[in-house]
Amino acid sequence: MHFGIVELMPESETRGSEMRWDPFLREWVVIAAHRGARPVLAEKADKSYRCPFCPDAPEGQGDWVVKHTNNKFAAMTPEATLSPEILQDTLIFKVKASVGVNEVILYTREHNQQLGSLSLDHITQLVQLWADRYAEIGKLDVIKSVFIFENRGTIIGVSLSHPHGQLYGFPFIPPRFQRQLDGAQVFHEEHSRCLYCEVLANELKIQRRIVCENEDFVAFCPPYAKWDYETHIYPRRHIPSLFFMTLEERHNYAAIIKQLVQKLDRFHPNLEFMPYTMGLYQQPTDGGQYPYFHLNMQFYPAMRGANQQKFAGSVESHMGTWINSSAPEDVARMLRGIKSDLD
Ligand SMILES: [Zn+2]
Ligand SMILES: [Zn+2]
Repeated sequence: MHFGIVELMPESETRGSEMRWDPFLREWVVIAAHRGARPVLAEKADKSYRCPFCPDAPEGQGDWVVKHTNNKFAAMTPEATLSPEILQDTLIFKVKASVGVNEVILYTREHNQQLGSLSLDHITQLVQLWADRYAEIGKLDVIKSVFIFENRGTIIGVSLSHPHGQLYGFPFIPPRFQRQLDGAQVFHEEHSRCLYCEVLANELKIQRRIVCENEDFVAFCPPYAKWDYETHIYPRRHIPSLFFMTLEERHNYAAIIKQLVQKLDRFHPNLEFMPYTMGLYQQPTDGGQYPYFHLNMQFYPAMRGANQQKFAGSVESHMGTWINSSAPEDVARMLRGIKSDLD
């Protein structure tokens, strides 16, 4: 019997990205088969490797502190089209062109920096860039939701180590974000109050799960944390997006991000930095009214100990029920004890 290497080649190569409908979960899945060819972390293995985001590469050229650029391996593009024979709309099978925006947000020219090691002024400029890109992309008619995020660390599957985040402009409101909105809306209808403001007030009263805080922001481990070191940052003021932040708030936002990320990075001396996924939740840009929505940022660290990676296992992946082996109160106490440059 011959076991050859089966290459996933490509009818899909020329096909472009598609959105396909899952009729059971009633949500869109993006099939971006061409992304299989994107660069992998080759720095250590290949001496001739050149980072595409460093200042000597075409993408990194020019005079910049932080900058955005199109994602060369975008899963979604604004002008995406599919040939008519691929498009489908039957009882169970729907296929649409994957319309949207994918940008890369370069945090710094320096290859060996991390978000937490940048200066406060530098991170403030990053916050400003996030705000500008949210406003700009959110203006597009086709974009209903703008998601700014960072995947960090090879165990998360990051393909390039130059410090960067990304922005996705979706042609729909993604389902898990929709659930967050629905929860906030139901609470608002029943109690005429913002659920996020209520959660924040409760955490400030109890104190045990607060990690750090400043004049305008609070970082805490939510009582219902799913990941072991899950931490959220809420603004004290009820604002729906970065667009509404004052200059002072942007500076304080930079400060709390730096403080929290440094604490996570210093979590264990054997770890160079904490791998995580970060998500920045801002009001949808579909023209709807969201008086119940409150800007928030969530960090899901990928470790559950210095040498143990946290996986979304069967119960989490299949059933959607999370088992967290750490008490958020203990994690918050531990993170409070780790000194950042701002403590
Ligand atoms: Zn680089
Ligand atoms: Zn609020």
